Amino acid sequence: MGTSLNEILSFNESFVKFKQYEPYITSKYPDKKSVILTCMDTRLVELLPKAMNMRNGDVKIVKSAGAQVSHPFGAVMRSILVAVYALKADEVYVIGHHDCGMSAIDPDVMIGNMLERGINEDIIDTVKYSGIDLVEWLRGFGDVSTSVLKSVDMIRNHPLMPKMTPVHGLVIDPNTGKLELLADGNSYLEDNNSTETTV
Ligand SMILES: [Zn+2]
Repeated sequence: MGTSLNEILSFNESFVKFKQYEPYITSKYPDKKSVILTCMDTRLVELLPKAMNMRNGDVKIVKSAGAQVSHPFGAVMRSILVAVYALKADEVYVIGHHDCGMSAIDPDVMIGNMLERGINEDIIDTVKYSGIDLVEWLRGFGDVSTSVLKSVDMIRNHPLMPKMTPVHGLVIDPNTGKLELLADGNSYLEDNNSTETTV
């Protein structure tokens, strides 16, 4: 059983009453001017910001299963663009993690689970015949590094991303919080600039 709604609401009442929010008061603009795209994994809820020395008010955090940008015009990409254009973030971090649930997702098994939980087979067919490849949509990834680099590439080359915004790719260990750098957005920009000037 998860935490029940009632437990949350009664905790919340005392949280507000005793002003436990006070240490967290900040503005909507990220002090460290960054946006992080990471996974919704439970182990990262507190660990990731702590391991990066990020506090309330420092960064925008966008979460999706597997830290994936699955569609260039989906909600994840939109959130990143909003962070950059409306909320003054000028650096993007894509942070995947080892042992990610999305690397173990089998779309066929998941569709089987949907059927078991009462989704009618006709619905699955309707979705299919509406032009949606459900298996492709639900698919995770085999290798976290490949997946992070794919998201980095999609964000860097998104037609609406400012070209001078660094986009970094990292992998975090969900137990120790250790970060591993896969793609340094600054050196990518420098390389691109130097090629431009030499050509
Ligand atoms: Zn994950």
